[in-house]
Amino acid sequence: MTLETSIEYVKGIGPEKAKLIKNVLGISTVEDLLNFYPIRYLDKNKVYKVAQLQESNLDVQLKGKITQVQEIQTGRTKRLTAKFSDDTGTMDLVWFQYSKWMKEQLPLNREIYIFGKINLFNKQFSMPHPEIEIEEKKENDNRLRPIYPSSEKLTKRGLNQKFFQTILRNICKEIPNLIQENLPDYLIKAFKFLSRKNTYLNIHFPKNTEYYEKADQRLKFEESFFFQLGYGLKKLHHKTQSFGNPFPIVGDYFTHFYEHHLPFELTNAQKRVLKEIRQDMKKPIQMNRLLQGDVGSGKTMVALLTMLIAMDNGFQSCMMAPTEILAQQHYNGIKDLLKDTDIKVRLLTGSSKASERKIIHEELESGELSILVGTHAILEDKVRFKKLGLAIIDEQHRFGVAQRAKLWAKNKIPPHILVMTATPIPRTLAMSFYSDLDVSVIDEMPIGRKPIITAHRREKDRVFVYNFCRDEIKKGRQVYFVYPLIEESETLDYKNLMEGLDHVMQSFSDYNVTMLHGRMKPDEKDTAMNYFASGKAEIMVATTVIEVGVNVPNASVMVIESAERFGLSQLHQLRGRVGRGAEQSYCILMTSDKLSTESRTRIKTMTETNDGFKISEVDMQLRGPGDILGTQQSGVVDFKRLDLVQDSAIIKTTKNAIEKILETDPMLSRAENLIIKNYYIKYYKGKNKWGKIS
Ligand code: ADP
Ligand code: MG
Repeated sequence: MTLETSIEYVKGIGPEKAKLIKNVLGISTVEDLLNFYPIRYLDKNKVYKVAQLQESNLDVQLKGKITQVQEIQTGRTKRLTAKFSDDTGTMDLVWFQYSKWMKEQLPLNREIYIFGKINLFNKQFSMPHPEIEIEEKKENDNRLRPIYPSSEKLTKRGLNQKFFQTILRNICKEIPNLIQENLPDYLIKAFKFLSRKNTYLNIHFPKNTEYYEKADQRLKFEESFFFQLGYGLKKLHHKTQSFGNPFPIVGDYFTHFYEHHLPFELTNAQKRVLKEIRQDMKKPIQMNRLLQGDVGSGKTMVALLTMLIAMDNGFQSCMMAPTEILAQQHYNGIKDLLKDTDIKVRLLTGSSKASERKIIHEELESGELSILVGTHAILEDKVRFKKLGLAIIDEQHRFGVAQRAKLWAKNKIPPHILVMTATPIPRTLAMSFYSDLDVSVIDEMPIGRKPIITAHRREKDRVFVYNFCRDEIKKGRQVYFVYPLIEESETLDYKNLMEGLDHVMQSFSDYNVTMLHGRMKPDEKDTAMNYFASGKAEIMVATTVIEVGVNVPNASVMVIESAERFGLSQLHQLRGRVGRGAEQSYCILMTSDKLSTESRTRIKTMTETNDGFKISEVDMQLRGPGDILGTQQSGVVDFKRLDLVQDSAIIKTTKNAIEKILETDPMLSRAENLIIKNYYIKYYKGKNKWGKIS
């Protein structure tokens, strides 16, 4: 037997079971079986008495007898129950799914052991789907007993826990010497790891909980280590191999603007970030930088100044946004900032007219146009630049890798890349997954900005909320009402939105109300936006289309309806639409009276903090990392054991270890590191699907 042997040839499996296991669990080799980890363990030495049971949800083993079996029918569902007794008491065993065969085979009035999780209901303990072992057959082994992830389909066909335990026990007996080390001695010593062989033996059949912990730590370390190694190598490779246009000059465009047209003093954070960008672009290596900054931290100005540096070096820039509204806003903002200069900016989106496109194409190719702002329309092949030197991408996780690759191809030497995101990424995520990017953070808000006051209100408070809005409008402010529009229930949401609009219009009949939602045509959206932005409408009723980037500094109140239906990061993004001017701003989260625990946590987090990083960390704990990164990337962070929330210490440790190794041995060519290199090439190379930007 080798690690590559097909499970079909493993004793006790055979072709038929092999096929089933492959289909249901995706396991086809001995190695896959080794990597099929138990989900929990039972301590076989510990036998509880019924009278001792105290806590629910605990894995326990009991010894006793089944005295009675009964099938119970409620409505259309049936369940099987059995009375289980020992000398201290009686409890129910319950099966919600079972076969006739099973019902008949339950051992009555014989000494048995039962294993499983106990449930407490109405002060009565019960055990759903217990595993049963008859006493004389009980194995004599005092290791912890592994429980493997299983399914009804497998159990029905005899592939139960017992089956997997036997198979894995045999494998662990037969092949320990085939399990080869993948970490060098010096790391194993430094971290006091078990050998790889002992790690596997103890993950399947732990000697005790201490050994289980050790095995678990090592497997997590391995996962984090080899995953991050890929990024480490890539970053290194990038730094040494990937050519870019050096921008050595800071010239007239930048200096003139900085001295004469800058409408405010830059924050220290903006200055620092600009310096980091400038250092990158000086070099003949493509810049790949992620600019993180909370909503309202002033990323647009940094983007503009960066584009001016590109111009000073004779290059064109483009700036790409995920939606038409956002592109339009960027365009308006940049055009406004550049109004007293002769720098040419144009906007290209899906709804640009053919005549405009023609001009844009011509001016891009002649080099006359220096800055192009737009949506993914910029990616079209027809859009060719004379000398594209810089591409700025706003709200990065909405663009796919393939789309970005198109941007690189727009110049012989790829343009410098600045990715801007207002969705702060939890530090552990940024650390592990953007390790091929350099990260700059704007961690400071422009001075004079007052933190937004956020409150939670319910239906009964609606009159007060409306009165509050009215008072703010009287002071000259504007108000947003935001309604959820979530795809699965789009029709219903649409109806709610329209009812909401009616209601707001009636309640605020003395004011102008405008509306913005995703079903409107681009020019209708523009009209609505302008109506609000110019102050003609005091109130905007909208869906989450305003989530990204909309900038109306005079709007100081946002009322979010059915706030419990929004995710945390979405609430935070929405809230960022107010608090953009000098006035005190407010965000009012309207919810129904009944809230789930999770919704309550979200609402509470929002009322307690304005810090995007804190919010993103809570969000990751609630939703898991895959969702945080957006649907495009979810699934790529499927670690078997590593938990990005709980294992941040391990992630940090591995990151440091990798940095240290690559610093002295960037090619992993030293004898002691070959073991890492070979394992990486065999199992990980080319498999890191994301974080990929160049
Ligand atoms: P975001 O990071 O969300 O894209 P913006 O770039 O839209 O933020 O900036 C938000 C607002 O803050 C804009 O109105 C902008 O003009 C203003 N702003 C940016 N930087 C500063 C600064 N240093 N001082 C004062 N106001 C600033
Ligand atoms: Mg912005």
